[in-house]
Amino acid sequence: MYLCFVDESGTHGSSPVLVVGGIIVHEEDAWHLQQRLDSFLFNKLHPLGHDHTGFELHATELRRGTKQWASVGQDDRHRILAGAYGALAGYAPVNPALPWRLIGAVMERDPGRQQLRAYELVTKKFDDFVDRMSRGGQQQRGLIVHDRSSVEGRLQDWTNRWRVASSSLGRLRNLADVPLFADSRATRALQAADLVAYALYRYYSRPGGRHDERYIRRLWPQFDAEDGRMHGLIHDNSNFHRCGCPACTSRRHRLRRQN
Ligand SMILES: [Zn+2]
Repeated sequence: MYLCFVDESGTHGSSPVLVVGGIIVHEEDAWHLQQRLDSFLFNKLHPLGHDHTGFELHATELRRGTKQWASVGQDDRHRILAGAYGALAGYAPVNPALPWRLIGAVMERDPGRQQLRAYELVTKKFDDFVDRMSRGGQQQRGLIVHDRSSVEGRLQDWTNRWRVASSSLGRLRNLADVPLFADSRATRALQAADLVAYALYRYYSRPGGRHDERYIRRLWPQFDAEDGRMHGLIHDNSNFHRCGCPACTSRRHRLRRQN
């Protein structure tokens, strides 16, 4: 089975984009990936005299020094955040035939429907990925795991929304069940999803096309792609003919080949 851990970024009213980002790992890798991130954090926080088990790898908390991170100095926090992206990018799967991938949808501000559309896209792309991984090999199933805290108070609303989103996609062939919710404090895989969503947010939320690539840079190669086509990232925007991001560039190449 493949698991897709997802989280959101840019949900606040003033954000120019909404991001749903996630990490897709085979069940065999879920434990090892979390171990890697956990030992990374141990190695960074233990010498500073902190018990790493009480710390979440949560990008905005790390940057702003909120919650547990208030007790760690700014330079250390920023080093740890940058290092966490390195630890994630360098993860090697247990079985190379069952790779891990990143997935994301970045939507221009359109409060009426962007969230619904972002989930539709991520769900569909995950279903497609699981389908591809099942071809010519063992049948795989997929399960989406969502951060509970990011939808707290609107869980029912979110679940209803997901039902509407999934029903508009036609039949999802490879998903085992509706998305499950978990506490990001309990699983570093959800914290990894937060890092992915945040890196995309930083890249896509700068005004005037100035991109902050410092976090996403090391993650680009892990976005789901096949034959040079980037499937795993969608940048929904009115200006895709001119956008230089990897998702829009890949889409233009594809359209050119079709014509
Ligand atoms: Zn783009």
